Amino acid sequence: MTFTLAVANQKGGVAKTTTVASLGAALAALGRRVLLVDLDPQACLTFSLGHDPDGLTASAHEVLLGDATAATVLLDVVEGPRLMPATIDLAGAEAMLLMRPGREYALKRALATVADDFDVVIIDCPPSLGVLTLNGLTAADAVLVPLQCETLAHRGVGQLLRTVADVQAITNPELAMLGVLPTLYDSRTTHSRDVLADVADRYQLPLLSPPIPRTVRFAEASASGSSVLTGPRNKGAQAYRELAENLLAHWDDGAQLVTVDVAVS
Ligand code: ADP
Ligand code: MG
Repeated sequence: MTFTLAVANQKGGVAKTTTVASLGAALAALGRRVLLVDLDPQACLTFSLGHDPDGLTASAHEVLLGDATAATVLLDVVEGPRLMPATIDLAGAEAMLLMRPGREYALKRALATVADDFDVVIIDCPPSLGVLTLNGLTAADAVLVPLQCETLAHRGVGQLLRTVADVQAITNPELAMLGVLPTLYDSRTTHSRDVLADVADRYQLPLLSPPIPRTVRFAEASASGSSVLTGPRNKGAQAYRELAENLLAHWDDGAQLVTVDVAVS
């Protein structure tokens, strides 16, 4: 059984791409066969995993339009996962898919052809709620929402939840809301905790444990073309390893997801 996870939030800069790369590397390190899918025309995931999007002849774009099979565009990544890369061409896929019937199912259909080769597929959604994100949510078993622990972080969450509800009603009744992953978390301030409490209270969403701490290593890693798990040990990498173990216990053994307990003050 392949488990497919969409990482989505229409807000940019909330650590979607960092979460996909780091969680993917952590799951691969735990022996899982992992496929990462870059659905963002900005191709930050592709770039951060050491591939130059400008040098690619085929990507998720061709796959979504049916001009290439998924298997032919996959790339190797140093840390173990494989990657379905993005290029800027994906920006045009939105418009081209709009004219096609069944457009929300393009990714789901393509992934079905390679599902046997992977235990986990993680989809990096773009910062919008357009056709590409609808494809990611339609192809997924569950959605994880990274949320930056700062003021007004909750803005847009309601809209995202409505989109998830639409997908559940129309294209993917099986889609589960896994929960919110607190990112860029600063445990030294009460502010981060207040933001979490507010979100948990407002939307009744589970807060996945552990929160990912803010650490300077992440910026260094994405600049160097490798995920944060390579290089010296640090608390960000450790948090993603714990998250990977938390998710695997849930998927493999049906264990209850470990969540963050925040009291509303
Ligand atoms: P998104 O994909 O949601 O736009 P990114 O994963 O690209 O977000 O992250 C946005 C920026 O925040 C990047 O520069 C990234 O390196 C940085 N970042 C992500 N997670 C952390 C963290 N835990 N600590 C510090 N910086 C982080
Ligand atoms: Mg991104």
